[in-house]
Amino acid sequence: MSKKHIFNYSQEELEKNLEKGYQSKQIYNWIYKQYTHNFEDMNNIGKNLRQELADNYTFDGQEIIRKQESKDGSIKYLFKLKDSHTVETVLIQMKPADEKASPRYTICVSSQVGCKIGCKFCYTAKGGFVRNLEVGEIVYQVAKLKQDMNLEAHKAINIVFMGMGEPLDNFENVVQAIRIFSDKDGLNIAPARQTVSTSGISPKIEKLGELDLGINIAISLHAVDDELRTKLMPINKAYNIKSVISAVKKFPIHHRKRLMFEYLVIKGLNDDIQSAKKLLKLLDGIKAKVNLILFNSHEGSEFKKPDIKKVQAIRDYLNSKGLVCTIRESKGEDISAACGQLKEQHKNNTI
Ligand code: SAH
Ligand code: SF4
Repeated sequence: MSKKHIFNYSQEELEKNLEKGYQSKQIYNWIYKQYTHNFEDMNNIGKNLRQELADNYTFDGQEIIRKQESKDGSIKYLFKLKDSHTVETVLIQMKPADEKASPRYTICVSSQVGCKIGCKFCYTAKGGFVRNLEVGEIVYQVAKLKQDMNLEAHKAINIVFMGMGEPLDNFENVVQAIRIFSDKDGLNIAPARQTVSTSGISPKIEKLGELDLGINIAISLHAVDDELRTKLMPINKAYNIKSVISAVKKFPIHHRKRLMFEYLVIKGLNDDIQSAKKLLKLLDGIKAKVNLILFNSHEGSEFKKPDIKKVQAIRDYLNSKGLVCTIRESKGEDISAACGQLKEQHKNNTI
């Protein structure tokens, strides 16, 4: 029988599966706080348990095969999975205004190899859909990056499900990964620091809301009328703007947080003030925050980056009307690590 990937299991599951499961708290501590990725070194747990772990579980199966650093400090990691498919994970560093303070980190994780949704502007979509990531393949992206960067265990980091894939299309595994990330004996990343970004699968948004995990949600809206949205995002045929808005309205959020709406600005398509006015109307009555993203171009793309002045005009208009709106600073563009630029790497162009 092949060994199981240890990162697939929550502390409760290990507790149930192992003979001396009550020590799973220590195991979690070793793996996620000490970054010890072998059982032999876990010297405060019994020899028999270490043997049981080594006989049944493994740390192997996923490895970093490339690491690229951007001028702005973002780092893109390429992971090879056990079946040789690859996914990318991006570590984003935000330098605080006070130079002496340490940077803040956000890890942008992938949830699938490829994506089924097929948005016209997205590079991930070009490769089609390959498969869902397992729980451990999601969890490992964060555990390994923290280890690789030597980040102190208690250092607070943020997670965004904005890498490759549609997280709500891999619902169960993403939810389990969120739970493992949140475990206080492990990575201890509070749900309030985790954000799921979705293209808008309405019933899944409702289902996620019902779980009341305490996480944030970001809706990739991008267009304010169904005609354009359907052209850009075919999923809009199944779940139109109205259905997405009504689903997200039910989503429970922390009283200090806002529902996030991402609006990808594409030259000549949705960069006018008329669209901004419609957006304002659409989000009326919702405690929302709008993130404007400038379209990032990639190989073979038919769209163009908008004029920054137009994007600023949208921001200023929305802010003047009381709708919180920021322009998302694009990170890692020079290494194709920015939003929508990630894709599975094929053998002929890896390393
Ligand atoms: N599938 C999810 C999460 C991954 S995509 C979703 O679509 O929300 C993360 C974000 O990158 C989304 O808001 C997506 O619309 C955006 N994006 C995709 N292609 C892009 C591009 N070429 N330029 C800028 N942002 C892009
Ligand atoms: Fe999938 Fe998101 Fe890309 Fe659309 S934007 S194809 S949902 S990864």
